[in-house]
Amino acid sequence: SGSYISVGTGIALGGQISVISKSYIENADIVFGIMPNSECDEWMSILNKNYVSLQPFYSEEKIRIECYQDMVSAIMDEVRAGKKVVGAFYGHPGVFAWVPHEAVRQALSEGYSAHMEPGISAEDCLYADLGVDPGNTGCLAYEATQFLFYKHAVDTSCLLILWQIALAGDHTLKTFEPNKSNIELTIKYLSQWYPLDHKVVVYEAPFLPTESARKEEIALRDLSNVSLSMISTLVIPPAKDLEIDTEALKLFGVSEQQLA
Ligand code: SAM
Repeated sequence: SGSYISVGTGIALGGQISVISKSYIENADIVFGIMPNSECDEWMSILNKNYVSLQPFYSEEKIRIECYQDMVSAIMDEVRAGKKVVGAFYGHPGVFAWVPHEAVRQALSEGYSAHMEPGISAEDCLYADLGVDPGNTGCLAYEATQFLFYKHAVDTSCLLILWQIALAGDHTLKTFEPNKSNIELTIKYLSQWYPLDHKVVVYEAPFLPTESARKEEIALRDLSNVSLSMISTLVIPPAKDLEIDTEALKLFGVSEQQLA
């Protein structure tokens, strides 16, 4: 009877996949995948000759969620046909990704065995490449458009990570191109909390061994002047020091001097 597993393949080609995820791919009857480039598609085809890219399901005519539903349907058709199906997604399959979660949910709801294996996400690479530890100040991470359109609390003493920064402010869910005026409005929105000369980093982890990480440090005001792509992530370092909560210290009977 059919089964389904969502696995992550990491960011850097070949080396960042877990041992168990690779084994699931090799032993599947069919593997569906979303890879960042043709080299990774080729790598998948070497691991399993029944590899099918989900890329053709993206269509300019449809809104994103309809494309995603078509991908889940394609996966579920094979599960229902009794096959051992694997969905392979670059990065971590459960991070800022709907299809890998939804396929597991649907398979489970129809009584099939299904689960997700974690992977190395762009955020994991970011901590390594930029040498920042999210535990130092705490870290907030948002999808850029959701950050703009919903009333999220901003804490400028934390590290702030904005995913899909190239599409910040896009409500069409149809485009894959950055829109300069939306990025200018994003700068304006962020300037409620951050000075325009605050240094931010445009980060892109390398997908191929021949590439190196993009770690472009710029003033916030220049965000609309640099190139942003579908793989850019914006990193905003803290703009102020952590503030001690004296009430909490009192409650726990701890003095400021006792804090290392
Ligand atoms: N599941 C993926 C992961 O675990 O990294 C993330 C998928 S999410 C739909 C796409 C967003 O992830 C991009 O807009 C960008 O913010 C981030 N991203 C993807 N690839 C990246 C890379 N190579 N370097 C930096 N950020 C990346």
